[in-house]
Amino acid sequence: MLDLIESRYDRQERISWWDQSKLRAARVLVVGAGALGNEIVKNLALVGVGQIDIVDMDSIEGSNLARCALFRDSDRGRPKAEALAHAAAEINPEVRLAAYVCPVQQLGAAWLLQYDVVIAGLDSREARLWLNASCRRMGMHWIDGAIEGLQGIVRVFGPEGACYDCTLGEKDRAVISHRRSCALLSPEELASGKTPTNATTASVVAGLEVQEAIKMIVGRLDLLALTGKVWRLDGETMMTSVVEYTEDQDCMSHELVETWVSAPAEYASLQDVITQVALARNCPVDAVYFPDDVITVEPCAKCGGGEQVIGLRPLLSLGAGRCVSCASALRMESRTSIDTTDDLSSVAWDRWLWPRREAISLRVGDEYVHVILEGRS
Ligand SMILES: [Zn+2]
Ligand SMILES: [Zn+2]
Repeated sequence: MLDLIESRYDRQERISWWDQSKLRAARVLVVGAGALGNEIVKNLALVGVGQIDIVDMDSIEGSNLARCALFRDSDRGRPKAEALAHAAAEINPEVRLAAYVCPVQQLGAAWLLQYDVVIAGLDSREARLWLNASCRRMGMHWIDGAIEGLQGIVRVFGPEGACYDCTLGEKDRAVISHRRSCALLSPEELASGKTPTNATTASVVAGLEVQEAIKMIVGRLDLLALTGKVWRLDGETMMTSVVEYTEDQDCMSHELVETWVSAPAEYASLQDVITQVALARNCPVDAVYFPDDVITVEPCAKCGGGEQVIGLRPLLSLGAGRCVSCASALRMESRTSIDTTDDLSSVAWDRWLWPRREAISLRVGDEYVHVILEGRS
């Protein structure tokens, strides 16, 4: 009889600092639904995190099945995020799940504000760099995990101290910037390497990622063991170590934004935002700063094919810089800021490739006004 009324969470609630009500109220974003993402979501669902959102743009292939506990043979070809959300709902029906089948950049930095914590299971340095800079701007923690062979790492980055960008060397930066520059012209160069990994390493690393997330969610930041540090596992020798990262004082990703204003939904172009901010401040706006390169791709000068495309760089499709008809390179312009007389400011907003919720900064006199723009996709 007692068994029947015993809480699903009874054993974990016996941990002295546990707080099931905080876990039930929590919203977590899991970035990546591969080997790590499967284990992360499995753990979050088991412990009863209230809302788990999963973002991943890829679909399930045969080689995922040996490393992903929640995928089945019948899931081949299905988007990873969707299959994972579906399977996690069966593990714990009390958990709400949502799947986003897109690159994480398409959600936008301001989208992240709704989550208590962001947990990554990524295999791309560029996505990590975006997530890092975005969480830092929004004043949020994020937890990173990575696996290669029998080696794994777990680390936590907060709004202060060393961030992921601080840990990168010159070589990493050169690789990232090369990939950035060729993504629009030669997507074939970006064919991702097939990293050796397996299920056991993934489950250890993801387990520790979620362990840190739970401490964060229940508000026990004093128990966090890996903020600004890296935990390393060598699964062959079973040696582990924790090393503290050094903060780079000149790091480009340390731009914390304290206050935001929201742009009304009815504006038609950036010009409307500029006008309203100028009115509110009683001072003209000098310039608009974007969170990444805004790229303008012109129609083909050679064959006249295609239409003008305007969008934030990570949202442009691979190969967008080449004409689909004649394969010649298209004229592109890349800008991270514009002055308020720029033609771009009057281009209808629904023509932009823009994230669901992203923020821009307007310079007004000697201060900045940060504005969250709702996307149209
Ligand atoms: Zn940094
Ligand atoms: Zn052409």
